[in-house]
Amino acid sequence: MTSQNSSEVRVRFAPSPTGYLHVGGARTALYNYLFAKKNGGKFILRIEDTDEARSTEESLRGVVDDLAWLGLKWDEGVDPVTLKDFGPYGPYRQSERLEIYKKYAEQLLKDGKAYYCFLTDAEIEKQREENKAAGNFHVNSPYQDWSLDKALEHIKAGNSAVVRFKTKGLQKDYILHDLVRGEVKFPSDMVGDFVLLRSGGMPVYNFCCVVDDYLMKMTHIFRAEEHLPNTLRQLMIYQGLGWAAPQFGHISLILDEDRQKLSKRKGAVACGILKQEGYLNSAVLNYIALLGWSHPEEKEILSVDEMIKAFDISRLNPSGAIFDRVKFKWMNSMHLRALPNTELWQAIQPYLAKENMQLPQDPTWQDKSLNLFKPYMEILADAVELYRPLDDKSYAILPEADETLKWEPTKAVLTAWSDLVKAHPGDYMSEEEFLKYQDEVKNKTGAKGKNLFMPIRVAVIGKPHGAELKILVPLLKKSSLVARAEQALSKT
Ligand code: GLU
Repeated sequence: MTSQNSSEVRVRFAPSPTGYLHVGGARTALYNYLFAKKNGGKFILRIEDTDEARSTEESLRGVVDDLAWLGLKWDEGVDPVTLKDFGPYGPYRQSERLEIYKKYAEQLLKDGKAYYCFLTDAEIEKQREENKAAGNFHVNSPYQDWSLDKALEHIKAGNSAVVRFKTKGLQKDYILHDLVRGEVKFPSDMVGDFVLLRSGGMPVYNFCCVVDDYLMKMTHIFRAEEHLPNTLRQLMIYQGLGWAAPQFGHISLILDEDRQKLSKRKGAVACGILKQEGYLNSAVLNYIALLGWSHPEEKEILSVDEMIKAFDISRLNPSGAIFDRVKFKWMNSMHLRALPNTELWQAIQPYLAKENMQLPQDPTWQDKSLNLFKPYMEILADAVELYRPLDDKSYAILPEADETLKWEPTKAVLTAWSDLVKAHPGDYMSEEEFLKYQDEVKNKTGAKGKNLFMPIRVAVIGKPHGAELKILVPLLKKSSLVARAEQALSKT
């Protein structure tokens, strides 16, 4: 067996660009990244795009953008901007490596480890029907013992063939020492002769994966549990080619609250959507890291650097992890609160801009508003409803205020409030000043309880229920408060 001489840890994330990056894929990428960083190794992004019908450039763009947004920087692979190759073991797109696969398929054919198979789909279907009772069906190809010359002549004569891997002689019990699951035993008859190249010459995933992992000098493969059956085929291919296999670790599934495989049904699982909704990349990484791995001191809020420091594959959990959306939001709120206000202000801008909100440019005001709103913000998009009452354009007296406006004491309350605001010296009032004015309105008009608070709330936010006034009022300019109070008053 040829063994790989490098002591450098090399791992990869190998997405198929057939859809979007979901949290499961992101977690696989993250564990590989953490393992590489922890061991001073390399993290490689390889694109598995041999499924011509389903792979798209648009999907590749999306996956690459999402990985870059997450901050999982790769050392080799496709460039995050140009999508062109970089690194010494390229090309990194499987669709550009077809000649390489062909070469190794020919080697296997020559060595008698693979053969051209001329069975038609109909013939295979017939075999399947006939063996229905047997349960574990394997193709029985009469072509497995044909000489290569005979097969090549048959092809020359116009017959089309797939290349099948010959499992004869390799069907022993395979034992995988999985880095996550411990010993995994594959019974000898689990697979039959499987396809390496389709009839058009296009190679299949299992074959490309082995050739690439070997040539790209991968030392460890961390991937989803659902790939376990592929691993048996891949181990056979390694053996057929006389190559030492890397070490494998199969990561547990991410489950929904109902213990089913995570689905879109219950909310976003696509990284792109999480980003749009205003989850921070640091929170996404933190949360998915803990789905299947835990910190040795059970710490929950972790930066990527802390994760790298503490990462140890012995703490990867082989059982499924539940994606708890409530906890995820909470974790995001923790990361959001830890951001400096200047950064958080920048981060919420796209959400406010989308709603055309106009808010003060003054950094002191921005800082103050964030200090007050941060405890109520779980995702960035929450900023919209928190800030909306502060946007003058958005102020309107809503139908739900009608009843309050009809109450007998309302006019007097609003008049007193408006007079006090007008008389206030300076642009903004403090929380204490607001509370003092509220008391003064009460003393002046004799209104109390809801007769006092609800009209004032209408005069500040246009409706009798909602955000706490002692938080909002100090953030509203005197001129805005006056204009709003007058508008409310005019409706009494
Ligand atoms: N392209 C495969 C996938 O997206 C990668 C599997 C592997 O890591 O070997 O599932």
